[in-house]
Amino acid sequence: MRKLATIQTITAIEPIRNADSIELVRILGWAVVVKRGEYRVGDTVIYCEVDSLLPERPEFEFLRNSCFKPAQIDAAGNIAVPAGFRIRTVKLRGQYSQGICFPLSMVRGGDSIPIGTEVTAELGIVKWEPPIPAGMVGKIKGPFPDFVPKTDETRVQLLADVLERHRGKEFVVTEKLDGSSFTAFHYQSGFGICSRNQWIDETDSSSKYVTIASSFQLREKLAETTARLGFDLAIQGEMIGPGIQGNKYKLGFVTLRVFNVINLATRKLLDFEQMQEVIRPLGLAPVPFLESLTLNHTVDELMELAEGKSVLNESTLREGIVLRPTVETYEEETSGRLSFKAINPAFLVKYEE
Ligand code: AMP
Ligand code: MN
Repeated sequence: MRKLATIQTITAIEPIRNADSIELVRILGWAVVVKRGEYRVGDTVIYCEVDSLLPERPEFEFLRNSCFKPAQIDAAGNIAVPAGFRIRTVKLRGQYSQGICFPLSMVRGGDSIPIGTEVTAELGIVKWEPPIPAGMVGKIKGPFPDFVPKTDETRVQLLADVLERHRGKEFVVTEKLDGSSFTAFHYQSGFGICSRNQWIDETDSSSKYVTIASSFQLREKLAETTARLGFDLAIQGEMIGPGIQGNKYKLGFVTLRVFNVINLATRKLLDFEQMQEVIRPLGLAPVPFLESLTLNHTVDELMELAEGKSVLNESTLREGIVLRPTVETYEEETSGRLSFKAINPAFLVKYEE
């Protein structure tokens, strides 16, 4: 689970050109703009990542004019996301700033709390989620099944030591697409479709997920593939097109770009090459391949690589990149499988609500 608010140390402070009243502090791999003179190198602070939704409490009221979000109510009338202050990526005097810091006095235990301690719940912080357009998902069958791994990627800003540890390894870089996570699986003779967090009723043809699955005949093709390969499998990809995340790539129709093929017996991912061999006969395309590289990069260098336009549409900023080793590799810090994302800050400034 992503830790939104943690105790961290300020590792460096840098001036911002043409700005006297603000400066840049470094926390993990993040750059945060703060009031000048507020902190010193070595200070311990509470650091809240972007996507933190801070509760309506007096100490956060100063954020009301810049980032208040009203509560989101779901179809059943329940509060899906509470009201609060949404921390997003901003650009100040030409400098990207991601996250916000607060003095330690805001939490119990203050100075004696170990670095890395999570204080998300104590501060009443939850993850901000963009509203899901009604009608896209359709009928829900249940929670996401536990026999399929969920899709997720760790942010590179947290991984300076992981980059160090895997230096010299060969990586595949793909474009990170901004759509909706889609999963289809064949498991113990059954077929199923899921969104990022839910198992969808595959008989509800009003659902975009169901439409995509039937247009690619995934029920039949996954059954055939399972028979051919000899193991149950799941295919996961990003659904993009009209009606999804503002159709940033301006496509004329909804489609799917695959990033995972998972052997459900071992819960292991097929490597990028093997994945392409499996999906090609199914008529499915992978997420855009950008390059292979030998890892020899700092967090900042990978953040630079993340910038640029989408290969799907030259006039659209790309959301970022995802890096995975050419051959699957174990890594504790990224939930067992070495894989991470670098998000283009320009994309966040432009599109984050
Ligand atoms: P985020 O969208 O920031 O939560 O990042 C993780 C998600 O990115 C995954 O759950 C996938 O749905 C999605 N994604 C989009 N493009 C890719 C890609 N090229 N490789 C892996 N995941 C991707
Ligand atoms: Mn996404």
